[in-house]
Amino acid sequence: MILVSSCLAGLKVRYNGTDSLDVRILELMRENKAISVCPELLGGFSTPREPAEIIGGDGEDVLDGKAKIIEKSGRDVTELYIKGANLTLLKAQEVGATLVVLKENSPSCGSATIYNGDFKGKKKVGNGVTAALLKRHGFTVTSEERLFDHLVEK
Ligand code: SF4
Repeated sequence: MILVSSCLAGLKVRYNGTDSLDVRILELMRENKAISVCPELLGGFSTPREPAEIIGGDGEDVLDGKAKIIEKSGRDVTELYIKGANLTLLKAQEVGATLVVLKENSPSCGSATIYNGDFKGKKKVGNGVTAALLKRHGFTVTSEERLFDHLVEK
């Protein structure tokens, strides 16, 4: 089973109430090869919500207590993001995920790049907190941007 970001499957769960539909992901869902999860909703957020970015590092640093996740208006939401990451990990373990495809650039789901913390749309190399936790537990995590490579490899 493949675990995918809900927004890639077309669910309008992004912070601004939109989706990030990827038709290949939708096809995997329709073929019952994938199930979807939104770490931020699992963490207790609703849609719409304030955008948040990782300040002072990436998801690895958040897990190590060295960086924080802060909403644009300044609220520290690190614990909620970590809760969402832990619940997503449980889901991945429950379904025995053989591949995890998460939305790139998100502070939760990014697995190669994330926004750099200045809320100006600039990106940097790094994992979101959920991607970092899943990788630490041995899951293969990719994004919609690198999905083709994985599907060809498999
Ligand atoms: Fe939810 Fe991840 Fe999509 Fe953000 S990127 S809306 S946390 S599934």
